[in-house]
Amino acid sequence: MTAAGRALNGVLDVLPASVIRRAARRYLGGATVGEAVAVARSLAAAGMPATLAVVGEAAATPEYAGRHLRELLAVTDAVSGTDLDVRLGVKLTGLGLAFDPQLASTHLCSIAEAAAAAGCVVEVDMEQARYVDQTLDAVRAARRTLPNVQAVVQAELYRTAADVRALIADRIPARVVKGAYKEGPAHAYGRPEVIRDSYLDVVGQFLKAGLHVGVATHDEYLIFHVQRLAEQAGVSADAYEFQMLKGIKEQLRAALVGSGHPVRVTVNFGADAHKWSLRRLKENPEIVRHMLTSIR
Ligand SMILES: Cc1cc2nc3c(=O)[nH]c(=O)nc-3n(C[C@H](O)[C@H](O)[C@H](O)COP(=O)(O)OP(=O)(O)OC[C@H]3O[C@@H](n4cnc5c(N)ncnc54)[C@H](O)[C@@H]3O)c2cc1C
Repeated sequence: MTAAGRALNGVLDVLPASVIRRAARRYLGGATVGEAVAVARSLAAAGMPATLAVVGEAAATPEYAGRHLRELLAVTDAVSGTDLDVRLGVKLTGLGLAFDPQLASTHLCSIAEAAAAAGCVVEVDMEQARYVDQTLDAVRAARRTLPNVQAVVQAELYRTAADVRALIADRIPARVVKGAYKEGPAHAYGRPEVIRDSYLDVVGQFLKAGLHVGVATHDEYLIFHVQRLAEQAGVSADAYEFQMLKGIKEQLRAALVGSGHPVRVTVNFGADAHKWSLRRLKENPEIVRHMLTSIR
């Protein structure tokens, strides 16, 4: 982290929690399911469906994993019977992947069943490189009976090209991300331009295969080139969707919606959302800068 980044983080340490909470609100969907669903409603009114994601820690005990399962089931309950187009973002570590992959897989199936009944897709987030095999296995296992479960792939990983070929062969749609976990040269490309090339290649593969792809990025370069790729592939607007996090690049988001591109917004929420977001904020000095300029 640069000296400027460290200085910005130092500012976060001394600002009153209430001020930080107010500024972080722009990026979060509140503490409760009700608040998150209200955010999803207001996004829907502006032409954008949502992905709701309950933030939390990696589960270290079956009790924590069970609690997280119940939080996710509460989301499916809340959207069931509504006309909202809502997806669920699920992290398998929250459901016990680190200590019991079978438990996480079973919990994923419970969530996917409830989500299917509520008309929702479940996107299984991709986490650290050491979990990729288990995560893709859990997606495949769930999809034997629950086709509403979808995968995520990280463009930065060397292995992703092969994973994408296998997902396409199995007709599994996916969200594409750069990758958030700083994996290092044992697993991942480090140069931003290579990660971008990999990203565009992966999106192109899904479009060519006629499989729905979530283009999850705020990178203008990628957003520009994915539009070109979609035009060149001659696909309709329901073949892909841009996905962004709440509060980020809102003007670009609105412009995309205005020109007919589908855009879904991920809304992170939960009782621990504030603590969690503070940690994430500290990892990204750019967001801290955004936050500080939004404090008046
Ligand atoms: C909807 C969604 C789902 C995701 N799911 C996963 C996942 O399952 N697994 C995973 O490893 N990663 C996930 N990520 C994170 C992803 O891997 C990247 O770490 C993150 O999106 C930053 O990369 P970028 O493509 O936006 O490009 P960048 O080059 O990092 O960002 C482009 C510009 O966008 C702005 N920006 C980007 N991120 C932020 C932010 N958080 N706050 C404020 N401004 C920002 C900055 O202005 C930056 O200059 C997800 C991202 C999104 C948008």
